[in-house]
Formats: sequence, C-alpha cells, structure tokens
Amino acid sequence: MKTPLLGSFETPDHEPHMLGSLQKIHLPMRRFRQNDEVDYLIVGCGSAGGVLLQRLSRAGFNVITLEAGPFWDTERDWVSDESGSHQLYWEDPRVTGGTDPLALGANNCGKGVGGGSVHWAAFTPRLHPSDFEIYTRDGVGADWPISYDVIRPYYEQLELEMPVAGPAYYRWGYPHGYAYGPHPMGGVGNALIKGCTALNIPVSIGGPVAILSGSHGDRPHCIYRGFCIQGCKVGAKASTLVTHVPDALHSGAEIRDHSMASRIELGKNGRVTGVHYFDRDGGSHFQRAKAVIVAGYSIETPRLLLNSACPGFEDGLANSSGTLGRYLMAQAGNVVLGRFDQPVRMYKAPPAHALTEEFYETDPKNDFARGFAIQTVGPLPIAFGKQMVSAKRAWGWGLRREMMDYNHWAAFGLLGEILPWADNRVTLADETDRFGLRVAHVSFNLHQNDKRLIKAAKEKTMEVMAAAGATEVVQEARYAHLVGAARMGSDRQTSVVDKFCRTHDIANLFVCDGSVFPTQGSANPGLTIQSLAARTADYLITQGDSIFTSNKRDMTEPPLRRELAPPGTYGKGVPRLK
Ligand SMILES: Cc1cc2nc3c(=O)[nH]c(=O)nc-3n(C[C@H](O)[C@H](O)[C@H](O)COP(=O)(O)OP(=O)(O)OC[C@H]3O[C@@H](n4cnc5c(N)ncnc54)[C@H](O)[C@@H]3O)c2cc1C
Ligand code: SF4
Repeated sequence: MKTPLLGSFETPDHEPHMLGSLQKIHLPMRRFRQNDEVDYLIVGCGSAGGVLLQRLSRAGFNVITLEAGPFWDTERDWVSDESGSHQLYWEDPRVTGGTDPLALGANNCGKGVGGGSVHWAAFTPRLHPSDFEIYTRDGVGADWPISYDVIRPYYEQLELEMPVAGPAYYRWGYPHGYAYGPHPMGGVGNALIKGCTALNIPVSIGGPVAILSGSHGDRPHCIYRGFCIQGCKVGAKASTLVTHVPDALHSGAEIRDHSMASRIELGKNGRVTGVHYFDRDGGSHFQRAKAVIVAGYSIETPRLLLNSACPGFEDGLANSSGTLGRYLMAQAGNVVLGRFDQPVRMYKAPPAHALTEEFYETDPKNDFARGFAIQTVGPLPIAFGKQMVSAKRAWGWGLRREMMDYNHWAAFGLLGEILPWADNRVTLADETDRFGLRVAHVSFNLHQNDKRLIKAAKEKTMEVMAAAGATEVVQEARYAHLVGAARMGSDRQTSVVDKFCRTHDIANLFVCDGSVFPTQGSANPGLTIQSLAARTADYLITQGDSIFTSNKRDMTEPPLRRELAPPGTYGKGVPRLK
C-alpha cells in the first residue's frame, strides 16, 4: 500500500467509453506491468469483484482485476433486443448432473465487467435476521459465523450506493425503509397486488429494486421498456459496471479484460504469490500479487481453486476441509404464468417491481422448514415462448398461437429456499475448455424438505395468480441464483473461509462472492453479495500491510468506512426508517 505508484496510464482502446447514455469514462486506465507485485489481485469483476476493486483502490492499494469477459462499452456492445444479449452470460462449456440437473449458461453467471450485475433484474431485498441462524432455530442447514446486525450497516450503505428504490416502510425481516421512492406499477405488478389483496396477503409495491426512479448524478431514470436483464443500455439499472467501476478506475485500479485466470500459484512459504492467466489469444501470463481475492461466482470460484491443486493441496487449493465445491445452492425459481382477458403487456416495466415475503419464515404448520417469496417477473417474448413449450408443451402452430397471445399473460416467480446439502457440489469434469482447463461439473439433487417447500410455494403462487383474475394458470419449473460452494464458517473442518472471507488454509488468499453463503434464504442474493464485499474490503483496509506480511488473523470487526463510497452516493436520498 505504501509503495510508490507503479505502472503507466494508457488511453483505452475506444474513446469515449460509454456506460449508459450519459455516463462516460474520462480517465485513461492505469496499466501495471506483470512483474510489478501489486497489492491485491482480484479474479472476476462482477457483483462482489466490482465493489472490492472500488473500495481497495480508493483506499490507496494497487489493485488489478482479471476479468474473463470484455469491458463493455454499452453504447457500442449492447442492444435492446432479447436475442442479441447472450454475450452477457457465461456460456463456456460446463457439465451438469445429479437427480435434478441445473440449467447452466444464461441462467446463472455473467461474463464481462459487471458480471451478473449486468444481467440481473436488480431485485434487492435483504436477508432476514433468521437466515443467519437457521440451524439454531430450525435444526436445518447451517448458521452463519456473523449475525444480521453485523451486515445491516452494509445493507444500508449499499442501498444508497446503487441506489435502491422501494417503499418508505418494508415490513418483513428487519423492518426498514428506502431513501429513494418506489416505481410505478406495470401490468404484472398490478396483477400481483390484485391477487395478494384478494387473499389478504401484504405486498411490497415498487421495489426494493436497484433501478433509478429519478435521475441520479450522471445516470438517467428508468424509461420502463423492460430490457433490464439484457443489460439496461440506458444506465438506469445498477450494475457494478456503472456504480463502482468508474470510481475504481478513477482511483487508479486496472481491469485486465479478456483475461481468464487459470491457476493460483502457492509459494514455498504457504502463501500465494500471484495468478496465471490466459489472454484472449491464448497467450499465457503470470501476474504477481501480495494477496489474491477470488470473486468468480459459485461455479467458477470453486473450479479455479480445484484447478489450482498443488503439492500440499492435492484436492484443491484451500480445501483442507474437503468442503470446497460442496453445499452449492440454487433457489427454486418456478415461473407461474396466468392469462388475463385484458392485455397485461408485461414487457412495459422492469421485470422486478413488486413482491411479497409473507411466506418467507418457517411456519410450524408446514411440513417443511423455511419458506419462499413471490415476485414479479416479466419475460420477454423469447423467454415466454420457452416457458410455453415447457409449461404447456406448446409446439408448432400451437406455440405460435400462444406467442401471438403474449400481451395477455402475466408472470410471477417464486423464490424458494433450498437448503445446503453436501452432495450438491461443483467438481472438475474430464472435459476441458479452449485453454485446456478442466471445466466445472455441477451436480444438483433436491431433498425432501426442498420438494415439499417447492410444492407449497408453487401452489400458493398459482393461487395468487388465479385470485388476480387469470382465466388460465400454468407453471414452469426452474432454478435461480446459485450461491455457496466455498462457504464461510468458524470451524475450519466444515468451511472454506472465515467470517472475513479469508481462506482458513492460506493467510493471503480470500474468496469473496456468492460462494461464501452458508445458506441463502429466499431473498435474491445480489445485495448481500455486494454488502459482504464492502465489509471484506473494510476489513482488509483496516488490516493494512499486515495482510501481506503476516499469517496472524485479527478477528476484530472493522469500522464501516462510509467515506470510501463512490462520490455522491452516500448520504443522498430522503431520510428513511431504520
Ligand atoms: C437472469 C438473472 C437475473 C438475476 N436477477 C437477480 C436479481 O434481481 N437480484 C439479485 O440479487 N440477483 C439476481 N441474479 C443473480 C446475480 O446476478 C448473482 O447472484 C450475482 O451477480 C453473483 O455475484 P458474484 O460476484 O458471485 O459473481 P458474478 O457477478 O457472476 O461475477 C463473477 C465474474 O467473474 C468472472 N470470472 C469467473 N471466473 C473467472 C476466471 N477464471 N478468470 C477471470 N474472470 C473470471 C466472470 O466473468 C464474472 O464477470 C440474477 C441472475 C440472473 C442470471
Ligand atoms: S426498464 Fe428501466 S432499468 Fe430496465 S432496461 Fe429499461 S430503463 Fe433500464
């Protein structure tokens, strides 16, 4: 941290670099040399990686992020078109298996600067206090090594940095309010309100969602045209590409795009020394670093650590517990579709704009532990067509007829908590990718609690759709939001990282992304992922150079460093209920 600035400043390839219709990157990016030993090397510039990069560089560290995908220029690279957006996803080969195989590719992680936050719908509910102690409360899953109170200030912080729009009073979990006003309702939101109201179920209207309901700094407000999971060319939806990366570059960070990390190098002293990676032409490089943070998503993070096996860690780097890759979770994400006599036009709003968490907590009347949420989703025509194939077996002329009826359908998504199980895991397949690296094999199996929960959630969501006035209700089974596979815990025998995301085995190797979740609740994970990243950054900043020189672990909670937020983000918005 105290070493003089290294590297040089070079002009980016394409000037000006646009991140939305109004947001430009004005500064050329700093470039480090490969034989410069940087302070931190982060693998992956997604939801967690983007926040870490911004915080650490603003605090004065020399930081590089290796990102496998491109550095998006949103004006040049993105289109408001459903079929033109597949480049946003990680579609490299992976193998799926188990009794209930997960669909991979476009259904999970992103590829490119911003990662999954580029294609997320931006629903940003918090986890509930109960999520941090489900083993203690219900005897299932695991407890987190931290409580809700530890992460709450970071939720409040990140809700201002993105920022999150939502109601002034949010009743579930730890009740709170949002500093930015809620969004108006689209047709699907109105259907959810109608169905819930008919059944006396409270519903949250207009958020929480990380989409601007009014212009903010150099970002314009939402124009309600529904291309959120295609990237939001407008720049109204928060992604780390538009919220944190510009400040990171301003603070002297380097993002090396098209750079696929292949192996983390372990030195003779039991500390990591840097990362091997391939550039876009397949050229092999090694970047030296004093500490490494892996933030590559719940599949690529364990894959990289498994591919980094070496003498002393034959089963994968930092895997002395044998839990690396295990306890992978996905949420049940069934989509329930209802046909209405009146047009709904579900594309005319962000997919994410209303939800209920009334069924989130364990209810002793149920035959399962934990619960689920019901949310608006607004599939565009191609996704809708796929859902009609799966839900109604529609095909040929029948499918065409359903597609012509698109404007009359509404879609709700359930988010159901699937528990962490050791046999749901990421391992290495025999197949290799274009760099010769073994690809991930993802095995997924539903257990009895999960099946019961999904059945109840599906029935309730269909009941709400019918109560909204739908004349036909169908559903598609699917999963969403992978987390886990390198979980945090206090016991090094049963977890990969400690409560600050430092691997138990290697003092200068961290994992900080959705992989560290011990359980997942039924809240979308993005806000928690970014909040954990900000807390880990505060820890690293507080520890200063000792991370680079010492194996001692200080387990003291760091102070929250609001002053390190991107300028103009903290302290804005209207006063809200805490
Ligand atoms: C369609 C869709 C909608 C979603 N909607 C929501 C939502 O509304 N709310 C919500 O909270 N969540 C949502 N999610 C989930 C959310 O996007 C993810 O949970 C979140 O982005 C994961 O964050 P992460 O930091 O773990 O990984 P990511 O954000 O995926 O970042 C990982 C990054 O690492 C890079 N990488 C991986 N391996 C390597 C390597 N070896 N070398 C270099 N780079 C590498 C990847 O290219 C990627 O950019 C949605 C997901 C999808 C698919
Ligand atoms: S609906 Fe709003 S947030 Fe979504 S893509 Fe359009 S402008 Fe962006």
